[in-house]
Amino acid sequence: MNQRAKKGKVYIIGAGPGDAGLITLKAIDCLRLADVVIYDNLVNEELLKYAPAHARFIYAGKKGGDHTLSQDKINALLFQEALDGNTVARLKGGDPFVFGRGGEEAEILALNDVPFEIIPGVTSAIAVPAYAGIPLTHRGLTSTVAFITGHEDPTKDKSDIDWQALVGIGTLVFLMGVKNIGQITAALISHGKSSETPAAVIRRGTTPRQEVIIGTLATIVEQVQANNFQPPAILVVGKVVELRETLCWYDTKPLFGRGVVITRPERQADDLALLLAAQGASPISFPTISIVPPKDWSELDSALDQLESYHWLIFTSANGVHFFFERLRQRGRDVRDLKGIKICCIGPATARQIQDRGIKVDLVPREFIAEGILNSFSSLDLSGKKILLPRAAVARDILPEGLKKQGAAVDVAATYQTINSGRKKEELMKLIDAGEVDIITFTSSSTVTNFVEIMGAEYVLPSSLQIACIGPVTAATAKKAGFPVDISREEYTMEGLVQSLINNVQEKASRMCEEKK
Ligand code: SAH
Repeated sequence: MNQRAKKGKVYIIGAGPGDAGLITLKAIDCLRLADVVIYDNLVNEELLKYAPAHARFIYAGKKGGDHTLSQDKINALLFQEALDGNTVARLKGGDPFVFGRGGEEAEILALNDVPFEIIPGVTSAIAVPAYAGIPLTHRGLTSTVAFITGHEDPTKDKSDIDWQALVGIGTLVFLMGVKNIGQITAALISHGKSSETPAAVIRRGTTPRQEVIIGTLATIVEQVQANNFQPPAILVVGKVVELRETLCWYDTKPLFGRGVVITRPERQADDLALLLAAQGASPISFPTISIVPPKDWSELDSALDQLESYHWLIFTSANGVHFFFERLRQRGRDVRDLKGIKICCIGPATARQIQDRGIKVDLVPREFIAEGILNSFSSLDLSGKKILLPRAAVARDILPEGLKKQGAAVDVAATYQTINSGRKKEELMKLIDAGEVDIITFTSSSTVTNFVEIMGAEYVLPSSLQIACIGPVTAATAKKAGFPVDISREEYTMEGLVQSLINNVQEKASRMCEEKK
């Protein structure tokens, strides 16, 4: 059969305003099909993870007037990539048809018979005010709203903007307006808008770096200059701005704006990142360790060969569970081989891994550390019982030793190992120097020791940074490495760690109130 060449297609996709969660399901579906992703400056780069592993990424830029690729070049690139048979995801900030030049890009494709689809996005024009607690319409306040480009210089001879008409509209939303804000407010006032009209400028909206200035048409220019507000920002003019006082919800979150470094391995960072983001923090993934199979499977293999002889299986981490079952599968076996063996997990996250595999967990200790397991077992008669402990290649001896003292026969099997992630210290130092890091979290001793290895023993963290540790063992390792541990959580759960960060912020805030009294 005659093999026809694959025909390319371009998806012009709205990526949403900044918060990665504001992308649409359809946009994600299209990104998953992409051979090449061409993305703009305002696109949250976190979204690139949805593209398949083979995808190429092309940054098209556009920061203010500074275009990495000119619009003509972008148009030509879209056309060429599609002609080459590629599926192209053209990822644009907000909505592609709202001041996004998506229409021009689609026109070129239409004229050249290149198949394309438009995936609308959540535009910053609506979402950014919403995250500042400003609804663009509100019963009794306004029933009209206009979106305006502030890019045009209103003093130019012939304006495309009908300033007179704008004065009669309830809510005005200016995009790309920071540079011209002086001319915009002057034009509105000179055409009859009251200088007392409330106005808001919102910068980097929907992100943990969101900043909001509230004033009036008369005052806002000076406020914006005093705060040295740079793009991207949105100007909202109208009575609805006053609703922020009641509806402010995002920038009042307990960890709002805090940059929190996660040193856990990439695969396990997501849970903590989601919990942090839900509290308004900006999670920064900087894994210091990677979890990989052990150098040698022989310990686990010989345990698997006599699996039915064990009475208990004890898992001390989610990694142990993952690699145990991976090896079991590789050896042509599955959960049916665990019949009759009781299972103990060190804490709820590890237990979830077992339960997700359709298996009941028999024991979770009250304290989620090795000592907690020993306490739980102390009331059981372990004499003559065989226990398998699939765990990290290097780990503390306290658990196997303790169980042996209680009469059990214990086999320890190296099931995974922790290695240095190989990340570069410059990556993190850049963020620290830019003032974007407030808290560094350590969730195991190995995250601490590998952090020190990556940053170099001579590197001194700025004293403004806080160190947060989960569990007493990790805290002890951090102290030994010379870190002042500001926040430490006895209970080993991610939820608990996030709660400790919140408590710390609230304690500090109330201390400051006390001092002011
Ligand atoms: N198509 C985009 C707009 C592109 S024009 C959309 O629908 O959102 C670029 C302008 O959008 C910026 O100058 C700024 O005014 C606004 N903008 C985009 N993202 C923003 C954000 N996170 N915070 C504030 N303004 C934003």
